[in-house]
Formats: sequence, structure tokens, C-alpha cells
Amino acid sequence: MKVIELIEEMCDIREKLCQRGDRIRFVPTMGALHDGHTSLIQRANTDINEDNYENHSSTCSLTTCYDNQIRPQNSSQLKDDFSHHKRILNSPQTRDEEDNTDCQYDSNVKQKQIVVIVSIFVNPKQFNSLNDFNNYPKNLDSDLEICRRLNVDYVFAPKCGQMYPNKRKQNMISNNNSGYSKNTNKYNHCIIQPPANKLAQDLEGQSRPGHFEGMLTVVCKLLNIIRPHDAYFGEKDYQQLILVRNMVEDLNMNIQIKCAETIRDPNLLPLSSRNVRLKEKERKAASVMYKILSDAKDAVESMQLTYSQSIDSIPDDKLDVLDSSIGHKDLNSIILASMLTTLTLNLSDDNLDMVSVNYLELRCAKDITEISYVENCDFEGYDCENGCVKNRLNLGQTNSTTLLKARLLTSITIGDVRLIDNIEVLLNYDDKR
Ligand code: AMP
Repeated sequence: MKVIELIEEMCDIREKLCQRGDRIRFVPTMGALHDGHTSLIQRANTDINEDNYENHSSTCSLTTCYDNQIRPQNSSQLKDDFSHHKRILNSPQTRDEEDNTDCQYDSNVKQKQIVVIVSIFVNPKQFNSLNDFNNYPKNLDSDLEICRRLNVDYVFAPKCGQMYPNKRKQNMISNNNSGYSKNTNKYNHCIIQPPANKLAQDLEGQSRPGHFEGMLTVVCKLLNIIRPHDAYFGEKDYQQLILVRNMVEDLNMNIQIKCAETIRDPNLLPLSSRNVRLKEKERKAASVMYKILSDAKDAVESMQLTYSQSIDSIPDDKLDVLDSSIGHKDLNSIILASMLTTLTLNLSDDNLDMVSVNYLELRCAKDITEISYVENCDFEGYDCENGCVKNRLNLGQTNSTTLLKARLLTSITIGDVRLIDNIEVLLNYDDKR
């Protein structure tokens, strides 16, 4: 494993890997690695390349080139430096693969090497306070050890001055309308600011102004430096995942954004570098976050409502299944009622005092738009991994229905630690509307 600090060196290596025809897989992180990060790295190590399936219905074979621009060169042209890359695309162990269980591999297929690059960079631009940035856990030595154990090929660990060279002071946004915190706006000298669209100001963005713009800036820079074929992000940071996907699409970056599911501790709290800041009592109370999500998911799914033009048009007889204490047609009210029940049933008064729920919102999984916009969705052509699906299910009702993938997102603050989580919710959608 090689550790690289300089952008120029990283770009050089990337070029050579590409000339050799390797597939580059990239896992961006801010370090303080835990099992959530390592699950992304393991996935990068073992994922089968979807592009390489030639025929999903019968035999699958791996193509010899990954894209039109990249052709493997004569191996003698390659430097010894790369000789340790022996990993090959023959060990699929991922969710993507499970979706293609009837695929057989062609034994004559040419095996390709994959190269995994992990970046470790605590990005000041996405922090809302200098204090938070300074207190962010940093353990480079143990991070490198973890990467070594996981057979990572390269760790890109640039210093701040590499990523944000302060050579264009004249471009700094000096006023406070920039959306960035005063403390970190010394990094705002980039000419290009990533899209500060509505989504970046929604949910997490509402109470963390500038956070997503800062995140997108660094992800955009890293993707431009590494130019991977695949980049891996965790579903835990769902809004981040959607924003990155949107950016990659908008900027026509030829990169596959892959997502991996959330890894949790035994109390079902998503692993996060910030969890170390929770006191023992707070950590126990934090387990209520997943309970809030799963109870609200059950409440919504068990209703088995059919979503037609709008929630208000649901006939009254369909609402009989609802708890009479809720007795309300509005979806968000049902979620809210479920949340209040979960909090009171699971937390003592003491614990209740230290928890505050910042938001709990059900959104369309594909793009986190509000669920009331569902009726405007065009269901044709949605891809099923990421959004609205077209799986037809007969739910025992007279009409066959289409399931719409929604996402319930929440943030809670315990003590002074802000935590986030999300869960998938499936809604029934009436085709015959
Ligand atoms: P961070 O170091 O917090 O910026 O996270 C780097 C990547 O790891 C992001 O794509 C996160 O979504 C992902 N990640 C963080 N925590 C988890 C977790 N508990 N499970 C899965 N992925 C995670």
C-alpha cells in the first residue's frame, strides 16, 4: 500500500493505472475509520462490475475493456510500482451480485485487476464551526493500518494546503451571505462553487448552512483528481449520496456512484466517527433513533394505503385501518404520532429531556423530493436500485399496485451530538389513477 500526499503524484499514478486498463475504485473518507468505512472498502474490493455483464439472462462474461477510452497496454510498459495489484474481478460478494443470481461466469474470461484508492481528508469546508473541525477525531496511523489490512492499494491523504491552496485570495467570498460559516470561509477561494440548489439547503442543510456545498466541493475535487470508475458512498448519509449522484450527473462525470447499506452498532445506532463523543447514557438513549424510524415505517407500511392523486383523495373506508387516535389523512401526522409514541414508550423523562428530534421526514427515495410530489413522478424508466420502482406486487387487493420507494430521514441531537439516520419505506401506488 502506498500513501500519497501530493495531488500531482496521485494524478500521475491514476494515469498509469488507467493506461494499464485497471478499474479504479474510490472510497472517500474523513478518516477515523470504523466498520462503516471498512464495509465500503470491502465492497470496492469485491464488487462485480455491472458494466461487464454482457447478457444478464444467460451467461455473463467480463469484457476486456472498461470503457472506450481505456485500453490495457503492453505489460512491459508498466512500472514495477504496480506489480502488487493482483486483485481480480472474480469474487463477487455484493448486493448487486445477489440481484443477478442466475448469472454464470465464463471461465475463459479475461480477468481484470481492480485498484482500490481510499482518501483520508478532514474537509474544513464542510464544518460549520472551527471548534467542530478541530475536535474531529484524527487517527492517521491506525487508519493506515486498517487500510493495509484491507488490501487497499493507495491511500490519498493530502494536507489542507494541497486541497485548498490559498493562491487566489481575491476570489474569497468575504460577505456573510455566502452560506458558509465565518470560521471556515477562509477556504472559499475556489472559483467554482458546487450547485447550491434547494436540496443542499433542505433537511441537514437547513441547520448546517454551507455544509453540503463544502462536501460537494471536496468530493468534486477528489473525483477530478482520482477520476475513478466507481466511487463508494454510504446510505447512512443519504442526502449526501443523492447530492453526489446529482452532481456527477449534472457535470457529466463518467463515474458510477455506488451505495452501501448502513452499518450499525448492537443498539442499531449507525456507526459514526462522532459517536465517540456520546456519553454512555447518551449512547443508550441514542438507540431510540432507529426505533423512531422503524416504528414510523411500520405505521406507514401497515396502512397499505394506495397513493393516488393526493393523500386527501384517499377514500375514508381505506382509513379504517388507522389507529383511531390518529384518525388523520395526512401522512406526516401519522409519522409524527408514531414518533411521539416511540419516544414516550422508550425513554424515561430524564432521557427524553436530552433528546431532541430535528426532523423526521418521508421523502421520495430517488431524489428526496417531498412525497406529495409523487403524483408528478413519471414511473417509466426509474431505476430500481435508487428510486421509484416498478415492481408489481399483488398485495391481496383487487388492483395490482406499484411500490414506490420512499425514504424516511431523521436527525436527532443528544447532548450536543447531532446524529442522522434513515430507512427505506415502501408505499403502494395505484396504477389506475
Ligand atoms: P465520513 O468519513 O464520515 O465522511 O464517511 C465516509 C463514507 O463512509 C461516507 O460515504 C459515509 O456515508 C460512509 N459511512 C459512514 N458511516 C457509515 C456507516 N455506519 N455505514 C455505512 N457507511 C458509512
